[in-house]
Amino acid sequence: MGSSSPQDHRPPYQRPDESSPEREKFEKKLRGECHCGQVVYWLSTDNPLDVKYCHCHDCQVLHGAPFQLTAILHKADMAFENGTKGLHFYKTGTKRAEYNLPCKVSCSQCGTFILDEGRNMVLISPSPLNLQTKQQRANFDVRRHIFYERRVKDIYDGKPKWAGLDRQSQRLKDSGEPESE
Ligand SMILES: [Zn+2]
Ligand SMILES: [Zn+2]
Repeated sequence: MGSSSPQDHRPPYQRPDESSPEREKFEKKLRGECHCGQVVYWLSTDNPLDVKYCHCHDCQVLHGAPFQLTAILHKADMAFENGTKGLHFYKTGTKRAEYNLPCKVSCSQCGTFILDEGRNMVLISPSPLNLQTKQQRANFDVRRHIFYERRVKDIYDGKPKWAGLDRQSQRLKDSGEPESE
């Protein structure tokens, strides 16, 4: 018996072969692995609910990138080979390494970012996934931009762009100009 935390036994950290009230059966469809291989996880879907580029300042700093690619899934669609073992939790709200939702989850050894766990959903990084088919790559293609107001570079891809959160802020053109009503 190793150390065990309550979140070990419920999605998204629950192991693929473990059942719980939140998830009876899990089908391994896509595999993800961090850079060093310590963290291995599975998705039971290859079609996320949404895929976004987030240009917010937190994402720019935490991911060391001009923006972050994130795919949204139900928690029950994710499972970890070793539960929470090897995972590092960080809460941006308190700036502390603690498990308190919403929080960021990465590999404790190599630092690969794996997901943001929200209260109801998970927002994952698609980069470590073994996307194999053309359809899977299309499913994980970006669908919209959020916090485009904070961008470091204009992106002319014709995808919908929101100044802040989607559907709760102003729509912007690729150039950053407000869309005319
Ligand atoms: Zn790792
Ligand atoms: Zn962000």
